Amino acid sequence: MKIVIVGGGAAGLMAAINIKNDNNEVVILEKNEEVGKKILVTGNGRCNLWNFDMHYSKYNSSNPELLDKIITPEYEDDALNKLVELFSILKNKNNYLYPRSNKATTVRDVLLHVCNKLGVEIITNYTVTSIKKTDKFIINNDITCDKLIISCGGKSLPITGSDGSIYSILKDMGHTIIEPLPSLVPLFANESYLNKWNGIRCDAKVTSIIDGKKIKEESGELQLTDYGISGICVFNISRDIVKALNEGKNANVQISFLELGEDEKVYFELEEKNNTVYELLLKVFDKKLIKILLDKMDINPDAYIKSLTTKEMSRLADYIERFNINITGHGDFNKSQVTQGGVSLEDINPDTLESKKIKDLYLIGEVLDIDGDCGGYNLGFAWMSALKVSDHIC
Ligand SMILES: Cc1cc2nc3c(=O)[nH]c(=O)nc-3n(C[C@H](O)[C@H](O)[C@H](O)COP(=O)(O)OP(=O)(O)OC[C@H]3O[C@@H](n4cnc5c(N)ncnc54)[C@H](O)[C@@H]3O)c2cc1C
Repeated sequence: MKIVIVGGGAAGLMAAINIKNDNNEVVILEKNEEVGKKILVTGNGRCNLWNFDMHYSKYNSSNPELLDKIITPEYEDDALNKLVELFSILKNKNNYLYPRSNKATTVRDVLLHVCNKLGVEIITNYTVTSIKKTDKFIINNDITCDKLIISCGGKSLPITGSDGSIYSILKDMGHTIIEPLPSLVPLFANESYLNKWNGIRCDAKVTSIIDGKKIKEESGELQLTDYGISGICVFNISRDIVKALNEGKNANVQISFLELGEDEKVYFELEEKNNTVYELLLKVFDKKLIKILLDKMDINPDAYIKSLTTKEMSRLADYIERFNINITGHGDFNKSQVTQGGVSLEDINPDTLESKKIKDLYLIGEVLDIDGDCGGYNLGFAWMSALKVSDHIC
């Protein structure tokens, strides 16, 4: 049996390793000059390849009701076992797993090494532009195979090879493509104070609000920039905001600057009476931020807390706990870590990831309409989906 895998990224390499045996021929077709280019940029070059808190609820899709059928505890265990087998020692930082070397190159190089050792054929500089199906698959009128696995990724960071060009081929074969949009991106705003808060990093809670309705909240380090807001907590709420803006809806983010980090204790009492407003804020916030807060609050900074009216007190609390910023845009695919949308989950068998439209065609990784939060979930799905297909094919 000859099996062709289109796309030598995380999912494709993992599938090849698991499928190759003495009785089959496994070929990876990769458009880049080398495989695993995206792996190299993951986790800021360190590759956060898994999360111990793995669960289908960390993932999103246009068909969320199918997620628990695709991402099951069995494959969570299998994927982690496989990672341990491949990498032997893994670093655990607050449930985020990394290779011992702290280098993404290790992950790519180990996967490539094992593929070569097993006899997987890797053809680089090969872009798949057409797929036909008779009794066999015919790729680019050139290569034939019995089973075909598509692992071409989404559209995020196209310089790594995943440019979404496979969607139209899959659409022509009968699949529904849910509109691909960027996710895990920074969010843009158009406020006069952005230049003033540029460079501040602080612990905060951010809540996405779409057309006045609270959608999702996340806590963590918030980065205030001259274009808006960024940081992992912002990335994790960006999905719904990108979708909403795309649909012409109104999107806001509420920031609670008083969210405490895990290592902080509550020494701060809003009701502290012996401070002026300025003194109180000075103890807790970056000076640049205090200026912005005071300008917006319209409270005399030299007023003693004890002299504030109930209305002023609640305005003070409002601005530091419920600071509102209107979101006007978001990072594009060049800035996004993952693509939301892709091949509809309704078109695949959740137990095997085989297409319901074309027999012997399988879809794995980011090309599917599944995207995860930051923290190792997207590579996690690449591994889990690869193992699921391998189990079925072998
Ligand atoms: C900056 C950044 C940081 C990230 N950090 C993390 C992280 O730390 N942890 C995490 O879990 N996730 C992270 N991700 C997300 C994660 O990298 C992806 O979700 C994951 O790599 C997807 O794997 P994949 O194999 O499905 O697709 P890809 O890795 O995108 O691989 C697809 C491959 O298919 C090839 N290809 C595409 N079309 C064709 C074609 N027509 N013919 C032939 N070949 C083709 C591409 O060249 C590419 O090599 C990050 C993403 C980015 C952009």
